[in-house]
Amino acid sequence: MTVLINGKLISQQVVDKTAEEVVTFVERFGIAPGLAVVLVGEDPASQVYVRNKVKRAEEVGIRSLEYKLPADSSQETLNDLIQTLNADPSVHGILVQLPLPKHLNEEEVLLAIDPAKDVDGFHPLNVGALACGEASLVPCTPMGCMIMLEHVHPDLSGKQAVVIGRSNIVGKPMAALLLQANCTVTIVHSRTKDIESICSQADIVVAAIGRPEMVKASWIKPGATVIDVGINAIERDGKRKLVGDVDFADVEPVASAITPVPGGVGPMTIACLMKNTVQAALNQELKR
Ligand code: NDP
Repeated sequence: MTVLINGKLISQQVVDKTAEEVVTFVERFGIAPGLAVVLVGEDPASQVYVRNKVKRAEEVGIRSLEYKLPADSSQETLNDLIQTLNADPSVHGILVQLPLPKHLNEEEVLLAIDPAKDVDGFHPLNVGALACGEASLVPCTPMGCMIMLEHVHPDLSGKQAVVIGRSNIVGKPMAALLLQANCTVTIVHSRTKDIESICSQADIVVAAIGRPEMVKASWIKPGATVIDVGINAIERDGKRKLVGDVDFADVEPVASAITPVPGGVGPMTIACLMKNTVQAALNQELKR
């Protein structure tokens, strides 16, 4: 029978453990870990993400600070805010919600964040550390995927893994983490020829494409594990619905384990953000 990898349940375990770590942290250092969340503009999806992050932070005992800047804020205003947060010892984590309005330079913003406070793990120093297998702050979505994978495969060593997608926030760090776990890793993308046959040889397939239900049963080796990162809003039977990059109904009978959408990778991402915030706080307080 196919195992449904339950992101709600596993993320709650991560959150509960993080909440326990926060209690120990507060006892030891006399302050709560602090997370600053910066939102520029009023993109509805970003507002929901920020609200969920702040809510989760409060649940685990992290002190969250929300900074909402108008959509027409200048690069200078945003950079100044980041410098202020970098210099504030009570702020251990800084998250700038992406995407930013078009006139702002995302790269410049990510570079401005103190790497020690970079709880998204997007700063080039943290990206480099991950490539060297020495990362302390790992991007949240791939970290969440690894935790889910380890639930069904406590030892990933020697497995053939295919990551579909090569974005900086999901595909590339995902591949780095799988490699670190001793998988043999292939990354495929929009220019790859014959993706189906490459995927069909894999023990593990991670889909991070942004194309609704693209991955079909014929792509999956019987007994493989499938992690679906995709979140796509579609209209079906006159209703709005969220689906992944994997055709769940088609693939589920073939896979040995699979994540659903929703209730799979999504909740893991926020749980791992909490985990990273406590890790960042610990790293900083231990250095004082
Ligand atoms: P990007 O758009 O940045 O990257 C998509 C990747 O998929 C690219 O590397 C692209 O290739 C590849 N791709 C696109 N079309 C095809 C195709 N037809 N065949 C093969 N490869 C293709 O997306 P993200 O990585 O940011 O996100 C991927 C998905 O994950 C989205 O649905 C997003 O909403 C979701 N997501 C979910 C999160 C969660 O918490 N669950 C968090 C982050 C993202 P190329 O590089 O050649 O263009």
